[in-house]
Amino acid sequence: MPELPEVETVRRALAAAMEDRQILHAHVGRPDLRWPLPDRLASRLEGRVVGGLQRRGKYVLLPLDQGETMLLHLGMSGSIRIHQAQPPIGKHDHIVLTMGSGMANAPESWIVLNDPRRFGWLDLYRGEVHPMLVDMGPEPLGNSFSADHLVAALAGRKGPIKTALLDQALVAGIGNIYACEALFMAGLSPRRKAGTIRGGRADRLVAAIRSVLASAIEDGGTSLRDHVQPGGEIGYFVQRLTVYGRDGQLCGTCGATIRRITQSGRSSFYCPDCQR
Ligand SMILES: [Zn+2]
Repeated sequence: MPELPEVETVRRALAAAMEDRQILHAHVGRPDLRWPLPDRLASRLEGRVVGGLQRRGKYVLLPLDQGETMLLHLGMSGSIRIHQAQPPIGKHDHIVLTMGSGMANAPESWIVLNDPRRFGWLDLYRGEVHPMLVDMGPEPLGNSFSADHLVAALAGRKGPIKTALLDQALVAGIGNIYACEALFMAGLSPRRKAGTIRGGRADRLVAAIRSVLASAIEDGGTSLRDHVQPGGEIGYFVQRLTVYGRDGQLCGTCGATIRRITQSGRSSFYCPDCQR
């Protein structure tokens, strides 16, 4: 499932292909993904010029001229491909946007949204903030995410810190993978009570969250530059993971065996010696 670094990589790739370009044609292959798609989606997109792309949490925001913004969430299995020649439309290619630029407005690239399980989501809205984003917590790489914010938001929480980090109202964009990785880097057990994260622990956790996300975004940027497969999925790059998915393997720091436990229905991976 794409998390913040993957979505940021998608945003950067889409920005290069879509910003200041016109949507010449929109193919909408079905009426719904996770939820019904907006009414008359294709005609509301066609002819629009795309402005500066933004990201909020795991959402990509694409402002259009004439005042609407397109909101995109890739869900569990959604992916984006960008083609320089018109691709055949595959079974799970639900939306294809033909982008053009220049005076002639000749087609220049094709943006394909593929989503076999259809947990993804796309909406069009007017106004400042989409209702889904109103209660979202601060961006973890932004200035309003700090140890003070984290301590205040966790105070009194009795559940485990791992589960709290997945709460998008606490901090935006963190999913299962980077929650596990950040807790490892901070030396904190995923089972630790959220409300006990204070002082130096809060400082370490904020620094670790920023660090794992920033280096993953860097890896995403590298994968974009090195992108050689035509039609490859954007945003899925090789992640450098220290604990996630490595249960039974040895911790690179201390040599203990990495464990997997289930918390709120999600797998957590951690080193029982390094993380307390
Ligand atoms: Zn260890």
